[in-house]
Amino acid sequence: MIFHALFLLFLLRENSSIIKDIKSIGFEDYVRIYLELKEKVDFNFSADKKTISILFSREVSPTKKIIQIKDIRKSKITNSDFQAELQKNKIEIKFKNNFSVARYFVIPFPYKIIIDAGFKEKEIEVIDAGHGGKDPGTIFAGMREKDITLLVAKKLYEEMKKTGKFDVFLTRDKDVFLELEERSAIANALECDAFISIHVNSSKSQAKGFEIYYFSQKFSEYAFKIAQKENGVKMGKDESIVFNISSDFREDSSKKLAKTIAGHINKLNTVRRIEGAPFYVLAGTFCPSVLVELGFITNPEERKKLKDKNYISQLVEKIYIAIEEFINSYLYQNSYL
Ligand SMILES: [Zn+2]
Repeated sequence: MIFHALFLLFLLRENSSIIKDIKSIGFEDYVRIYLELKEKVDFNFSADKKTISILFSREVSPTKKIIQIKDIRKSKITNSDFQAELQKNKIEIKFKNNFSVARYFVIPFPYKIIIDAGFKEKEIEVIDAGHGGKDPGTIFAGMREKDITLLVAKKLYEEMKKTGKFDVFLTRDKDVFLELEERSAIANALECDAFISIHVNSSKSQAKGFEIYYFSQKFSEYAFKIAQKENGVKMGKDESIVFNISSDFREDSSKKLAKTIAGHINKLNTVRRIEGAPFYVLAGTFCPSVLVELGFITNPEERKKLKDKNYISQLVEKIYIAIEEFINSYLYQNSYL
């Protein structure tokens, strides 16, 4: 990928201003804006289609001023595409076009608020067919998890592709082995907006129904067992996965995605659980990510369903509708991902 970088620098001359400087850098469809403050000031971030607002808990600039961010080099986002307005205790960044995503993070020292806005034309979804190659997943009555997950993932891919509303990618489109880390690496490299890992369940009991998981370090005994099974390794309950992604927000949005999917697939079968657990495949993704267990191949009734093309089509359609709903309502309204 070619990056067109542009660096802009604003020195606000008033000494009483807490905003020390504002810089921006643009590459491809993204723009990043840095606000450097002389000291920490609490703020609220909100984003609404074309406008990003930062409301500070106190005055950061003595006067209202418009900051026209100037272009230095070429990027898809240029100086005329946005402007920032400073109003005492508020900064509003107004864009000409709707952004597809807006998010922020904070660097504590020197205190910087870093805002990213993206203008992708389409949302990007990554569908992950669980297991593959040397890892068959669960095998029962001649059915292999890796085959069912691939079939469903490919159908979901086709369904999403057909509408033309999304850019969709599969982590694998054939029977190959992929490490769990590779799957999340694909998702992150594509800067996806949602990641769905497809799996099939098994149980010694006659359990049936869907289970949907998101990544969490807090979990029930049962969810932990499922995570161990899907991770393919035994891990201690106290061994936490350490990563520097702001996990609360991601956990929240992933839970929301899980609930949205549950709200549609429950028309086909019971959703037994929506829970958090330390799934490796979900641990490294930046976007809302869920792992869906499509049913139990150990249950004769569900095994029959998972072989039924008509049922699979219905299931795929429900998941597709749920993803679309999640992207359109949640992702846009709360904008910051
Ligand atoms: Zn699995």
